[in-house]
Amino acid sequence: MKYSQLLAPTLREDPADAEVISHKLLLRAGYIRRVTSGVYNYLPLGLRVLRNIEAIIRQEMNHAGAQELLMPAVQPGDLWQKSGRWEKYGPELLRFKDRHDHESCLGPTHEEVICDLVARELRSYKQLPMNLYQIQSKFRDEIRPRFGLMRGREFIMKDAYSFHADQQSLNAEYQNMFDTYKRIFTRLGLKFRPVEADNGSIGGSASHEFHVLAESGEDLITHCSACDYAANIERAQSRRATPAGSDSELTEVNTPNVTSAEDVAAFLGADIALLVKTLVYRIEGGPHDGQCVAACVRGDDALQEIKLTRAVQATALQMASDADISDIGGITGFIGPRALSSLVIFDESLRQADGLIAGANKVDTHVTGLNVSRDIRDAQFADLRQTREADGCPRCDGTMSYSRGIEVGHVFELGTVYSEPMEVIFQDQQGKRSVASMGCYGIGVSRLIAAIVEQCNDADGIAWPAHLAPFQVVIISMGKSDACMDVCEKLYHELKQADIETLWDERKERPGVKFKDAELMGLPIQIIIGDRGLENGVVEIRERGRDKQEVAQEAVLSSVRNLLDRE
Ligand code: ATP
Ligand code: MG
Repeated sequence: MKYSQLLAPTLREDPADAEVISHKLLLRAGYIRRVTSGVYNYLPLGLRVLRNIEAIIRQEMNHAGAQELLMPAVQPGDLWQKSGRWEKYGPELLRFKDRHDHESCLGPTHEEVICDLVARELRSYKQLPMNLYQIQSKFRDEIRPRFGLMRGREFIMKDAYSFHADQQSLNAEYQNMFDTYKRIFTRLGLKFRPVEADNGSIGGSASHEFHVLAESGEDLITHCSACDYAANIERAQSRRATPAGSDSELTEVNTPNVTSAEDVAAFLGADIALLVKTLVYRIEGGPHDGQCVAACVRGDDALQEIKLTRAVQATALQMASDADISDIGGITGFIGPRALSSLVIFDESLRQADGLIAGANKVDTHVTGLNVSRDIRDAQFADLRQTREADGCPRCDGTMSYSRGIEVGHVFELGTVYSEPMEVIFQDQQGKRSVASMGCYGIGVSRLIAAIVEQCNDADGIAWPAHLAPFQVVIISMGKSDACMDVCEKLYHELKQADIETLWDERKERPGVKFKDAELMGLPIQIIIGDRGLENGVVEIRERGRDKQEVAQEAVLSSVRNLLDRE
């Protein structure tokens, strides 16, 4: 490609609306342009990188025995009615009616369509297992699209769906996909970590996310220093010492104007871990839609809202108002778990605890000597606390630490959550009708472009691994003579002939401008050709970010090959 014909509009300044480095650089280096909120054009450079990433994913998925197909972006509402998600999915699902008044949506994911397809074609256990995947555009009307390709509304996903006759076969495929993802992210040159994950709204049992480690990551993940336990904070567990508290009677105490856990502990001279913090939320969605829930954690713990969301099977939680709190029999500032009319759930760490202190649901009053299992009838417990950095590992003697991650992949064991309502039925070995179990496996292909740039950049721009770069080589012509341009052109054709993706910067720009653009775009190998060098039969080759070296004109192709092979 000749530079003067390439649509790669580079910018010298950081665009005002870009916060993270990948968004800034992908805009500045001319890889993407915004169309509207969360929707982007992939310019030629961006598309080339996308194709390189897709090629690796395809190769590994095919190698793992999955088959590629392509499903539509537009999906009929009927299928979503059948799976039960038309009601459940919420405002991220972009719904519309066609000219015949049929409800439709833009697919945010494809469980419904794939189940419908497979249900029609599946007859016998002999056709199973089967793993089908596609690389295709998804639409999710995200509330806060941001960071460019990182969280778009329209984005590209690799989504795979596997179907099985039994649990054992599903487990084996889950492991196969887990290992395949490790290979894919390793080949992409990423520092990543698989972590145990929450299943989210998709439902099902086992689930792991793959996170690219980056400060800008939206997710908090925790991992053990000694074993391979790692989890998204949304479901992480940990080991830590909790104070015993002494066995004593439930007693009301006066706490005038003392409301926060810290102040109550100080006022009563008690360990803050013996305080019970009671937080009230209004539930949206699920079996308790519209009700309030009071969640209790220790005074030194924070509530992990996703854990609570899952415990009450909600789609979302809203902080309750003072009026909500008073409706359930509580008083803001002095709320406690006793005698509330709402659902009350305690963190597991409160199950065996004695001598706790909690609000009494009376002004200026707390209770001491609380023992939840003894004093509260039919108390419900769940894991609700957010683990803390430096807590102990739940599996070994190690210590946990935090890092931030960008979720680039997610594998789920779905079981029959979708295949049952969608009637994906086959005849088993005994001739009985049986529901297929499923796994599903996603990779955020367009998000990966951003995630890679987050890890591969420097002060001058993007630093692509050579096999992902839009062009492996850029020829920078420095000389103005016809002879110089002829040499450049000849080399350009030679490299193309050798299947090396090459950009020839033949613009009549100052060398400084050409170097800046090549560095910004992150092209791994520069071939610099000037009149002076040519007089001696040499050109310069420079790997991005390294020193130049002189190479004899005839040896350029082999030198480039050597550099690329070494990658
Ligand atoms: P997130 O928690 O980041 O919203 P998710 O759990 O909703 O993601 P999945 O349903 O597991 O995502 O989708 C599979 C993959 O698609 C994710 O691992 C992620 O890499 C990618 N992805 C999801 N949402 C977006 C988005 N809005 N923009 C770009 N990529 C996305
Ligand atoms: Mg996910």
